[in-house]
Amino acid sequence: MKVQCVICDRQMVLEDDSPAAKKLRNRPIHTFMCSACSDRIKEKTEARHSTGNFRLYHHHAKVDDF
Ligand SMILES: [Zn+2]
Repeated sequence: MKVQCVICDRQMVLEDDSPAAKKLRNRPIHTFMCSACSDRIKEKTEARHSTGNFRLYHHHAKVDDF
C-alpha cells in the first residue's frame, strides 16, 4: 500500500502484511509517519525522558546523602 508521511510528505510503499500497514488499515492514511520522522520524534521524547530521569535520580541521590 502507498502511504505519505504526515511530517515530511515523503511517499513510501508499505508491505501489505507489515505491522505498520495493518495498523494503518484501521486508521486514516494521513496518520502515517516515516521512520526518519518517527526516529527524530522518538529521540526528542527520549531526550526529554532522560532529562526527567536524571533530575529524579539527582533528587534521590541528594536525599540519600542526608
Ligand atoms: Zn517523514
